[in-house]
Amino acid sequence: MQNVDYYEILQVSRDATGAEIKKAYRKLALKYHPDKNPGDKEAEERFKLINEAYGVLSDEEKRSLYDRYGKEGLERQGAGFHAESMDDIMDIFNSMFGGAFGGFGGGEQRRGSGLKYSLDLEVEMDLSFQEAVFGTEKEIELRYKAPCPTCDGSGAKETATCEYCGGQGQIVMRQGFMTFAQECPQCHGSGRIVKERCGECQGRGYTEKEETIHLTIPAGVDSGNRLRIPGKGNEDRRGRRGDLYVLFFVEEDEHFVREGNNLYIEVPVFFTQCILGEEISIPSLEGELPLTLKAATRDREQFIFRGKGVPDVHSGRRGDLIAQIKMILPKKLDETQKELLEKLQESFGLESHPHKSTFENAFDKIKKWIKGK
Ligand SMILES: [Zn+2]
Ligand SMILES: [Zn+2]
Repeated sequence: MQNVDYYEILQVSRDATGAEIKKAYRKLALKYHPDKNPGDKEAEERFKLINEAYGVLSDEEKRSLYDRYGKEGLERQGAGFHAESMDDIMDIFNSMFGGAFGGFGGGEQRRGSGLKYSLDLEVEMDLSFQEAVFGTEKEIELRYKAPCPTCDGSGAKETATCEYCGGQGQIVMRQGFMTFAQECPQCHGSGRIVKERCGECQGRGYTEKEETIHLTIPAGVDSGNRLRIPGKGNEDRRGRRGDLYVLFFVEEDEHFVREGNNLYIEVPVFFTQCILGEEISIPSLEGELPLTLKAATRDREQFIFRGKGVPDVHSGRRGDLIAQIKMILPKKLDETQKELLEKLQESFGLESHPHKSTFENAFDKIKKWIKGK
């Protein structure tokens, strides 16, 4: 196993927050997902590494062990990443993306018998933050596949019997006294192979059709969600169509950060406002929202507005809006301001020097320690 850096794999900094790690994981996992890179071994390895990195960095305890002792140390503590099989990895992936619309790998890949493409079709769609949060209507120009009329979807002008399976379309394997029938890997079950390719479709076996479809996107969709539209996928020989899956990618907003159905917003407040308290306005999905800062509001203090977050895509129940205070200090002081502040400080007397009262005993204690050496 080569020496891997989990932060590098997820392309995040070492002090990345949990939300940043989750976001980076989501983006990369979708990109390297095996469903999107069929047969690509390199993508599969990358996908495994991404999941391994996320498995460790998303767990606070494992992450701090990893930060201190590295991957080896993590394993010595028995807290290493133990997901050897692809199934385990899929569990991690599905725990994050599952649920909504049946998750990513949920759609069965139905292949029309003997057709060279699957009947289910997936398209990706970018949504603005606003469209995702409020829901929207979209028209898309869909291109889907239908069997080539010249070769009836076989891709061949002329076919011959498959020699591998003798035209049976399946091969039988024996293991002890058990026998298993398996689809022939050469002809994929058709029993015939291509002798000469169809000139009409260059052997692809399909032609493309276009259709404008109207989509109603429910409020609350998030990146990684898939919307299933029955009967809008690719066409089989009898003109029946599979399902269409629309996979969403949602852009970020400059003010709101989304975590599930909760929304976070950072509210910059000048230090004097924090001390004195004030009623201010903050943006919310409904427009302006009054926020009452009490006197002595702390930096990073959070104010929670129940039910002002994003609606759940299934139930419509809304998450919370969480406003977090960011206390702003003045960058520069002019003479007058400095004098005013010094006066203010004096007026507090001892209270303005909390370190003195706190460390009073500590200084004496440490002096004794040093002398005692
Ligand atoms: Zn053809
Ligand atoms: Zn065969």
